[in-house]
Amino acid sequence: MTLRRVQKKFLQACRTCHKVLETDKTVCPECQGNALTTEWFGYLVIIDSHNSDVAKKMNIKYNGRYALKVR
Ligand SMILES: [Zn+2]
Repeated sequence: MTLRRVQKKFLQACRTCHKVLETDKTVCPECQGNALTTEWFGYLVIIDSHNSDVAKKMNIKYNGRYALKVR
């Protein structure tokens, strides 16, 4: 697990699965949902979703970048 400061204005998060995406995306590639928001907090990188307690707690099944909290 790695927490980093990022330039959030270029990123948005999926309200359904918390995946972080570039703002040019209109549909989440992970859950196919379109409930995307720029109102999110906390940057989380999952590199080993099967062995990560954080991933399990947040119900994350895939590696990638996620938001801790989404409005
Ligand atoms: Zn999603």
